[in-house]
Amino acid sequence: MPIRLLSEDVASQIAAGEVVERPASVVKELIENALDAGAKTIAVDVEGGGRTLIRVADDGGGIPASEVELAFARHATSKITSAYDLFSVGTLGFRGEALASIASVSRTSLITRNTAERDGTQIKFEGSAVVSRSLIGAPQGTVVTVENLFFNVPARLKFLKSETSERGHISNLITRYAMAYPSKRFRLNFENRSVFQSSGNGDMREVLTAVYGVEIARQLIEIVADAATEFPAPEPSPPPETDDSDEWPRAFRERPSSNIQVSGFISPPALNRSNRKEITLFVNGRWVQDIRLSTAVMQAYHTMLMVGRFPIAILMLRVPSEDVDVNVHPAKAEVRFRKSDQAFSAVGRAVRRTLISRAPVPQIEPVHWSTGAVGSEQWIVNSEQPPFTDIPPRFEMGSVPPIPTSPSPLYSQTQQQPLPSASVPLLRVIGQIGAAYIVAEGPDGLYLIDQHAAHERVLYEAFSLQRAAADIVSQALLNPVAVEVPPGAAAMLGNQIETLHRIGFSIEPFGGNTFLVRSLPSVLGNVDPARAVRVVVEDFEEDEAPLANEVEARLIARVCKRAAVKAGQVLTSAEQIELVRRLEACQSPRTCPHGRPTMIHLSVETLEKQFGRRG
Ligand code: ADP
Ligand code: MG
Repeated sequence: MPIRLLSEDVASQIAAGEVVERPASVVKELIENALDAGAKTIAVDVEGGGRTLIRVADDGGGIPASEVELAFARHATSKITSAYDLFSVGTLGFRGEALASIASVSRTSLITRNTAERDGTQIKFEGSAVVSRSLIGAPQGTVVTVENLFFNVPARLKFLKSETSERGHISNLITRYAMAYPSKRFRLNFENRSVFQSSGNGDMREVLTAVYGVEIARQLIEIVADAATEFPAPEPSPPPETDDSDEWPRAFRERPSSNIQVSGFISPPALNRSNRKEITLFVNGRWVQDIRLSTAVMQAYHTMLMVGRFPIAILMLRVPSEDVDVNVHPAKAEVRFRKSDQAFSAVGRAVRRTLISRAPVPQIEPVHWSTGAVGSEQWIVNSEQPPFTDIPPRFEMGSVPPIPTSPSPLYSQTQQQPLPSASVPLLRVIGQIGAAYIVAEGPDGLYLIDQHAAHERVLYEAFSLQRAAADIVSQALLNPVAVEVPPGAAAMLGNQIETLHRIGFSIEPFGGNTFLVRSLPSVLGNVDPARAVRVVVEDFEEDEAPLANEVEARLIARVCKRAAVKAGQVLTSAEQIELVRRLEACQSPRTCPHGRPTMIHLSVETLEKQFGRRG
């Protein structure tokens, strides 16, 4: 075939493909335009997952009537004039491509009234061609309506996901922008029904509440500003570091560059997710995907979160615009930092600093002793107790070997020493209360230990060590047991037989959705094999494609959760003491492998206050 120039139409559809991948990309470009136009209120209407209709209305500056056509020309922008301006882009848009791209793959219309004009203008496009233009009465601002997206690009249409999935992308996008711009009012409607709105009063916690609900929003911790709080001095003798300088902790210990500011909210370790999708990063008001920065966030939780669990974080970076190149990604979803190590360490330090100052062993909140009896609810920190109805397996301390003092391999990937605040002092066990908590005395007051969470931690570290030594103790069943699992789980289980084998399960396919279980990790004691397999498959359902080592760590955690002593189980005092000794020996004794606290602490000082001995 000879070389030919593509027609204008085809060329522009190809170009559009880079910018407009799916309905959410249209929404993104339009709300960015609204933000650039100084809008205070942005209303988004979506029908049919964005394929039928996307409408974004703003109350920003509007487009002058004389420039309305130009706005839809490719590479037409009011935001930069020369290549030099790319060094200091202060707006979200700068390429002048979005409106042109959107118009070329849909039926687009726009109504706009510029601040300086009395009349509004309405213009309609059909696949890049203007089909009508008229004067119209309109409030100040701009309304862009995009209908029949990809009507002329069948290839793209075919690749769109279900309406539900596209809606998910759109609501994700809107809620993230709402969090990053708390002083803008956002509203999102699906099929004329309101699914999200923010008030625009500038209170980020209020937006977090609208996005995550009261319970989660209340727990999120605001990033502690730099400067005032100094990062704790490095441990006296840092472990030798042979690996590259990107690794925690050396990179984080560098003085932060004072010109990168990090603000936002993060979750305490106890609040976590099974994937990293809830780590959101905005750089100079722009939502970006940046694996290195999200790695910095995760590394800052080192030793506090189990492998395979991820925090929730919404972080805003302020970087001098000359230090960041925004012109590197077609959909502007990535940026390049001039000093990427500094950005990495600024993020890591901000998160770490916040965690250290705000997420130690949860203290019992001072009770108002003048109001009378101590309400029992004040003592409950960990509300996610496993249900009492779950019949516990035998409490078996002896099924795992004692914990050596070397660091747990799952936690030592980066050779980081445990946090100063992460250990526990030697404790004197006093007794058990409510068949759920162990009461102990330490040099600095009272400790209440959640027996289930503590045992989970103990088993997890022991199991991880066995795993690292490739020495999982497995227990063969007298008679292999056939277990049937749901069809969806069967495929996943089939794929994980290897992994399961490594952690002590010997399972083989037995036709259809049935599997033959020959042995179980001995830590599971005498759990019914069918239940043991259920424990394993439950976790697969959460994530689509988790990494192999994450799967393994998560499975280990699940198995330990299942095997751990439950609340409601009375322990002998020997068992209590043994559990606390083992917990003291753990690398990360303060949280269970899922990140929930194993203990709360009531200091002598708090006691004195409570009893009115101190002011
Ligand atoms: P860019 O945002 O990169 O400049 P766009 O194609 O998104 O490119 O928009 C082209 C131009 O149209 C913008 O530079 C801006 O002047 C104008 N414009 C687009 N949307 C709006 C809006 N909602 N309010 C005011 N002006 C707008
Ligand atoms: Mg734009």
